Amino acid sequence: MLLYFGLMGTKSGKALRKETQCSLLPHDHYWISSKRIVTPDGLISGSVEVNGGVIVSVVKEEDWYKKQRGRVKVIDYGEAVIMPGLVDVHAHLDDPGRSDWEGFPSGTKAAAAGGITTLIDMPLNSDPSTVSPETLKLKSFMCPSGINDFPMTNITHIKEGLSVLAKYKRPLLVHAEVEMDSEIDDGTHNDPRSYLTYLKTRPTSCNQKLVIGYQEHKDWWFSEGAHVHIVHLPDATSSLDLIKEAKGKGDNVTVETCPHYLAFSAEEIPEGDTRFKCSPPMRHAANREKLWEAMMEGDIDMLSSDHSPTKPKLKLLSDGNFLKAWGGISSLQFVLPVTWSYGRKYGVTLEQVASWWSDRPSKLAGLHSKGAIAVGKHADIVVWEPEVEFDLEEDHPIHFKHPSISAYLGRKLSGKVVSTFVRETWCLEKANMLLMPVYLCHLRLKKGL
Ligand SMILES: [Zn+2]
Repeated sequence: MLLYFGLMGTKSGKALRKETQCSLLPHDHYWISSKRIVTPDGLISGSVEVNGGVIVSVVKEEDWYKKQRGRVKVIDYGEAVIMPGLVDVHAHLDDPGRSDWEGFPSGTKAAAAGGITTLIDMPLNSDPSTVSPETLKLKSFMCPSGINDFPMTNITHIKEGLSVLAKYKRPLLVHAEVEMDSEIDDGTHNDPRSYLTYLKTRPTSCNQKLVIGYQEHKDWWFSEGAHVHIVHLPDATSSLDLIKEAKGKGDNVTVETCPHYLAFSAEEIPEGDTRFKCSPPMRHAANREKLWEAMMEGDIDMLSSDHSPTKPKLKLLSDGNFLKAWGGISSLQFVLPVTWSYGRKYGVTLEQVASWWSDRPSKLAGLHSKGAIAVGKHADIVVWEPEVEFDLEEDHPIHFKHPSISAYLGRKLSGKVVSTFVRETWCLEKANMLLMPVYLCHLRLKKGL
């Protein structure tokens, strides 16, 4: 399910705004300026001209004064970074059916507060799991998903699905873990409050099974233009090696990982702290280092949040039983500062962040009007301050539904989102000026079209 925060319509931005009164912005035509704008041609100091929700020009500072002639509205962000809004290709909003876990209103508020301007809902925990056959075709699980309504797939299903998707030039997104017998809690495990006990139930060999599938069937996997995209890869071991091998041969395979695999490691997870349980699980610190290496070398293409919340009750925070607690990391609002904070020591650049979070994900989703600060693209923009640090404590304005289950609480992060623009809608200005749910804005716009 694709959720566009803004809506592609036929009416002008002005007409839409009168109908909806959604945006914080009173103008159709305006400029936003900064000393640091991330464009496909690198970092520039200058201004971005937006008219009717579309970027109509991008000018360097030296050309700016000639062009604007003092007649237009300007929002000057000084040294803050202007970057394309994030495109999150994997987030669970659990709506319809489990909106008490998250839901579109709180989920999209959190997204906007985190600089995400487009997200693709993974409908696993929704009830029903999908609203149309088309959306179901996009994603599959190779292990039991934990939700009966979303059954697992196997190599045969993938083979059949790929040939159909290839015709429509659509990627197949695969959760590439295979069930292991040891996942069943037969009472013979070690302490269930130990994260390492849980880790044993989902070893790296779970991921390797996909790769074995690839080796056995590579003659058809990528035939007829098929594109396989591996979601949330946690391993930098043999799975990644084989993905690299497939890429090296020219096969159309892409792969993403998630900020929590780059931020956390098995060794540091406290006993009984089930906020850290997710699937696939976070692995050891040495693996995390290798994942960063793969990011920096371009072997991993992009990032997604895999925001996967639930009700606090199901996290079993007081029992701390890793084998029984719900697996999923709540992160939607924090993925940008987390990527930046944990990536700085590896030398991550602003251009890389834009590539991992905007350019490549928008291409994967076929959203060619998004993903860059460039003429003709939608004005989906995040403005943020990479150098500003903040403590992520209980009193931080967190907009997803259940902040208490987020593993990021208590961390110091760097990179504060200042503003989020989604086409005609200015969603966020200074974290405390948030926002109508962008989702409601979306629905109201739709009604008017
Ligand atoms: Zn997921």
